[in-house]
Amino acid sequence: MGFRSDIKRDYQAVFKKDPAARNSIEVILAYPGFHAIFFHRINHFLWKKRIPVLPRLISHIVRFLTGIEIHPAAEIGPGFFIDHGMGVVIGETTEIGQDCLLYQGVTLGGTGKEKGKRHPTLGNNVSVGAGAKILGPIRIGNNVIIGSNSVVLRSIPDNAVCVGVPGRVTKRKIIRMTTEEGLVEVMDYFPDPMTEKLRDMESQLESLAKRMEAMERLGGKGGKMRVYNTLTGRKEEFVPLVPGKVRMYVCGVTVYDHCHIGHARSAIVFDVISRYLRYKDFEVTFVKNFTDVDDKIINRAKQEGVPWDSVAKKYTEEYYEDMGRLGVGKPDVEPKATEHIQEIISIVKGLIDKGYAYEVEGSVYFEVDKFPEYGKLSKRDREEIMAGARVEVDERKRNPLDFVLWKKSKEGEPSWESPWGPGRPGWHIECTAMSVKHLGESFDIHAGGADLIFPHHENEIAQSESFTGKPFAKYWFHNGFITIDREKMSKSLGNFFTVKEVLDRFDPEVVRLFLLSTHYRSPIEFSDEQLREAEVSLDRYYSTIVRINNFFERDDGEERPSDAEKHYEEKLRSMKEKFEEAMDDDFNTALALGHAFELIKDVNRFLDAHPEGIKAKDLLKKAKEFLSEVGSVLNIFAKTPYEWYRSLMAMKRIPLSEKEIVEKIQERKDAREKKDWERADRIRNELDEKGIILEDKKDRTDWRVKAG
Ligand SMILES: [Zn+2]
Repeated sequence: MGFRSDIKRDYQAVFKKDPAARNSIEVILAYPGFHAIFFHRINHFLWKKRIPVLPRLISHIVRFLTGIEIHPAAEIGPGFFIDHGMGVVIGETTEIGQDCLLYQGVTLGGTGKEKGKRHPTLGNNVSVGAGAKILGPIRIGNNVIIGSNSVVLRSIPDNAVCVGVPGRVTKRKIIRMTTEEGLVEVMDYFPDPMTEKLRDMESQLESLAKRMEAMERLGGKGGKMRVYNTLTGRKEEFVPLVPGKVRMYVCGVTVYDHCHIGHARSAIVFDVISRYLRYKDFEVTFVKNFTDVDDKIINRAKQEGVPWDSVAKKYTEEYYEDMGRLGVGKPDVEPKATEHIQEIISIVKGLIDKGYAYEVEGSVYFEVDKFPEYGKLSKRDREEIMAGARVEVDERKRNPLDFVLWKKSKEGEPSWESPWGPGRPGWHIECTAMSVKHLGESFDIHAGGADLIFPHHENEIAQSESFTGKPFAKYWFHNGFITIDREKMSKSLGNFFTVKEVLDRFDPEVVRLFLLSTHYRSPIEFSDEQLREAEVSLDRYYSTIVRINNFFERDDGEERPSDAEKHYEEKLRSMKEKFEEAMDDDFNTALALGHAFELIKDVNRFLDAHPEGIKAKDLLKKAKEFLSEVGSVLNIFAKTPYEWYRSLMAMKRIPLSEKEIVEKIQERKDAREKKDWERADRIRNELDEKGIILEDKKDRTDWRVKAG
């Protein structure tokens, strides 16, 4: 990179990294951080030309003017920016990659007195918080975030977040999303395994003490379940507020467009969690809302030139159609924001009366400074939030983090009468109003996608707990993102697949199996290949059921105990326990499915050993029953093999009817009887090319559709 292009990148970085930067004149005249890097680039050029004294002199003068000291020898990549620059010191042998950001008071300092490398090396896209010190010839990986005031003495791996004195790595999983606002980084809230393990042990000790008491209160229901709670940041024993009952609220969709597969994941995950809670004998009340008035809906209506409520109505219907096709169960209550305006107004009024909210020109804002615990869910303090978040700039707010509870409606926008004039609810307040109304002021589970942790759920907690004076939800569950080529699937990026598109090519059970084959908190990489793999797995299940059914049709025969039978019987006995163990451990559907497919493998091995007798039949019957029980929780395995093959024929666009296939099989049989092997083979190959596989049995030929 040349001098000019580097400076250009530095200049652009100011706008990227400082939301307050408005125009070029301001940046060129009033950004000491920009001055510092500008002169450093000149200085560094002179330094490399081995010009004596002058570079050091310029560096000294620039430090005097900007409060930033950069040794002329430091190697700094393009796109570099120092925000609020006073007191920054960058030592001689420092190397900095591209697109890095430093705040005030940062020291990139040296240790030791020997010549040579004594200062740190920063990778690309590193952010260093105010007052942090990075000392010695260590390496800070790409995309690392160093927290304010931490003192880092050891190398930090890529994608880590490092805080404290001495600096330690806290979280590693970061998902990068390109949105309309540019590149945004989001924690996947999936802690690194070591931290999770430590916390797990800690909480196990705690829960052991509580176990006896808890078991009594549970009245035998649900015991031993452990769930990951975003609020506490660890797995803990699941003990509902009222023994035997679970009240659960999930943030639903904003109805302004078709559902994409990311929405399907959230719907399927929480559907399965509610099914498993019922399987564990809990009495579950499951509430999931619709956001049916919102900026996105209003914008969509403007684009299409239709009334806003017809957009909401249309996409609510589409949502039902998609979820119906996906086989997602209906929650017990499905409240809509527009049906709870009075409840919303009375909560907003209550928040003003209690001093948590204020009105400005017909809009009402929640005052974040009045809620000291703000940030407890997303585990960030206000400074971090301010540094990381895209905070809406609005001069009417007392603090940029304050959020709108009630929004004054503009001309032509939907509006309701309120004590503050005509307006409409802000996004967050509706969930407080609806959950409190349908589940009570405190309830058990609040859930949604990981992208809702901040600001939506953080704001919900602040306004709800301020209003009621009680803890809001006890457990917070968040499902991971779906990524395509490692980027979050999102509408704004255009890298998404609608539910309709996917269901056009794959059976709903394939989609469900695919989504449940990964733990619900982990990100899933979406690809056709993965879906085809799920299709092959499901096909293995259905063809196993065919084998079992065929076995049932046979005469009983003589008992023939074998090693295969013994092995299989043992496996079968422990299966239910294993399934529940997996699901009790934070709804680990991936592991539960692993056990189910292991059993399927064992069934096939058992059948390969040609068993005979009533006991064999009984054992196979038990396997079938167990698999159908697993299926009823995970909402798969619900078809008959015949329905499965019919569905595959439709999905694969097989250019033959069943009648034609049967006729071909008959033709082939005739040819074989006439010993016309060539013709028989030709028919088999012809069917194979069209995706139909023939299986010759003793007395007949079966056919099935090629999966995958
Ligand atoms: Zn919500």
